[in-house]
This record gives sequence, structure tokens and C-alpha cells, in this order.
Amino acid sequence: MGRSYNIVSIPGDGIGPEVNGAAVKVLKAVSDKYGFEPKITEYKAGGCAIDVFGVPLPGETLEAAAGSDAVLLGAVGGPKWDMIEPEKRPEKALLGLRQGMHLYANLRPAIIHKELSNASPLKDPGKIDLLIVRELTGGIYFGKQGSYESAEKLFDGTSKGKVSFDTESYSEAEIKRILRRGFEFARIRNKKLTVVDKANVLITSRMWRQLAKEMSEEYKDVALDFLYVDNASMQLVARPSSFDVIVTSNMFGDILSDLAGQITGSVGMLPSASLGNPGMPGMFEPIHGSAPDIAGQHKANPIASILSVEMMLRLHLGEKDAADSVSEAVSKTLAQGARTPDIALYGGSDASGNITIVSTEEMTDRIVANLE
Ligand code: NAD
Repeated sequence: MGRSYNIVSIPGDGIGPEVNGAAVKVLKAVSDKYGFEPKITEYKAGGCAIDVFGVPLPGETLEAAAGSDAVLLGAVGGPKWDMIEPEKRPEKALLGLRQGMHLYANLRPAIIHKELSNASPLKDPGKIDLLIVRELTGGIYFGKQGSYESAEKLFDGTSKGKVSFDTESYSEAEIKRILRRGFEFARIRNKKLTVVDKANVLITSRMWRQLAKEMSEEYKDVALDFLYVDNASMQLVARPSSFDVIVTSNMFGDILSDLAGQITGSVGMLPSASLGNPGMPGMFEPIHGSAPDIAGQHKANPIASILSVEMMLRLHLGEKDAADSVSEAVSKTLAQGARTPDIALYGGSDASGNITIVSTEEMTDRIVANLE
């Protein structure tokens, strides 16, 4: 066996272990077919790590993740840990992994699978196949923040009282590395890149625009355009099929990627990738959370996790044939009528019109059986 990869698996909480188990099963099966070896080691993060180690992200988990080729994550969090102070909550594990692994590029594809024709809440969405490239480690979520008592007054004489502030700040280097990712993905997709910003108001956004224009000289094959974030959110609903790659800042990307995900219909179908510099480990996970309402009921849709494996194979490990095999197996399984309950109402069916409601495990096994 030639190619081998060190994969850290972090199942997490709630449905995390169920969907991550599905992803690992598919990864093992596809690697057998395509002649590479995933060496998979499991670590804890999130609520289950709090229970055992007292912290959401144990040092050994971060160390293993940062030293791996790639991380496959399930989901973290749940009501059991909701009362813990914010700094120690399960979700802090995600921020810790992103920061500790220097994952500055978050990729969220939004696709309507043709087999789920009615999935979109939009009446006539057309063909949606877009990719949001979100900056993940800078901007307002990581800027200077604080609170102070102000002696100033509003125009009517009311004392301002306590003031709180967050700061949006970006360096040239941070913007350039994420823009480059945007251009590169546009180049291998449909050659269109939209920079989303608020350049009519924000000085940081004007820097994004300037740097994008300069960089576009190196990517003359990519059509570049700009949208203000308010307009972009309208356009994503009005004409989602006109987008190819969107590149944007941390907060705008956070909001727009949820919007784009929702117009495709099901949170259980949407994967994501978080990447650092080329050659460094990446992290691959479904966009959904730990779904405590259905945990342990065998109802979780494993496809978002399984498509996260596909992103890992395609974008990170260079195993394109195996990636194609996974995406085709998912399409074929849907075309054969298999549906977890969350996507049961989204139309499509096999040739005879049959839809079969299946469990997490059955959906996974059917996808494995359809790997070619
Ligand atoms: P959620 O994504 O867990 O669930 C929202 C709804 O979608 C629920 O009704 C759930 O049953 C459904 N759902 C989600 N994934 C599904 C799947 N694979 N198959 C079928 N249905 C699915 O969001 P939430 O309820 O707001 O959060 C629950 C917990 O997850 C919270 O503790 C939250 O902080 C955490 N969370 C974690 C992550 C992560 O680990 N990346 C992301 C978001 C939320």
C-alpha cells in the first residue's frame, strides 16, 4: 500500500458520533477500493471532553489534530453543557481547533442535489452550485473588544451609560491569502469570483476591494465582481444560480453561508472544509450541530459528514477518483429513493416513484454499497 494519511477523528457530542462513524465507514471503504490507507485515530473534543478532562479541547486532541494530515469532526455541544460559562463551553473546542491549526479558509459549498428537487424553500431556485470561501481567523470575531462607562450623553440628554465595542481589523496578508484561495477555487470551477463586502462604509472592505483588483491581474481567466453584503443577501435569494465562488470576511461569511445553506434545503446535506496554508492539515465537518433532539434515534442524516469526506479527498488529499466515487455513490443512493427523515419530503424518487425512509446506518451502508 503506497499512500497513507494520518486522520484524526473527533466524533464529539449528540449525533456527532453517529454521523462521524458513517464518514469513517465510507472513508475506509473507499480507501480499500482506491488503494490508499487512512490511519484513523480518535480523540475527544466538546462536551464529552469536558466530562472526562474538564476542558472542551484537551491538549492531546489539539496536538494530534495539528500533527495530522486531516481532521474529521462530527459536532459538539448539547443541553447538558449549556449552563457552563461561555469560555469553557463545548463550542470553544471549534474555535480552539481553528486557531490552533491556523485554519483561515472556511469552504462551504451550497448545492441542490437534483435528486432532492423540492428541497429549496425558494419557488424556482434554478441550479444552485456555489462555494462560499469565508475568512475564518480574523476580522471582528478576533478584534479588540471591551466595555467602559461613558460620560457622554445622547442628543436628548440621556446618559450613554455602559458602552461595549468590537473591532473589525484585517491585515493585507490575511486578506491576500484568502482572496488567493477564492481566485484559485474560481479558476477550477466556473471562473467567476464575487467579493462580498461593505466598501461603501468600511475601510477594511475598501482594502479587500483594492487587493482583489490587484490580484485579479494574475487571474485574468476569472471574472471578478463585487457586491455589498446587503445586496449579496438579496441576490442569493433572488438569483442564487448566478453565483460561482463568493469570498468574504469572517462575519459576512458566517451569515451568508447559513443563508446559502438554507436555500438548498437541508442542513443534513451540507459539508464544509477549513483549510490553512497548503501542506498543513485541514478540518472537515458537516455544517450542522449536534442535533440533541434526534441524538441516539438513528434518524441523523449522515450525508453532510460523508460529503465532508469527499471534500477532504478532493481538495486536500488529492484523491480525486475516490472523491468522485463518494459523490456518485451519494447521488445514486438518493436516486434509488433512500431518505433519512429530514429529507423525506424533498421530492425525487426512484423510477417507480418509491421513497424508502432509512436509518443513519442504513443510509451509510447503501452509500458504501454504491461505491464504485
Ligand atoms: P443543529 O444543527 O444541531 O440542529 C438544528 C436542527 O436541524 C435540529 O432540528 C436537528 O434535529 C436538525 N439536524 C441537524 N443536523 C441534522 C442531521 N444530520 N440530520 C437530520 N437532522 C439534522 O443546531 P442547534 O439545535 O442550534 O444546536 C444544537 C447544538 O449543536 C448546540 O449545542 C450548538 O451549540 C451545537 N452546534 C455545534 C456545531 C458544530 O459542532 N459545528 C454547529 C452548530 C451548532
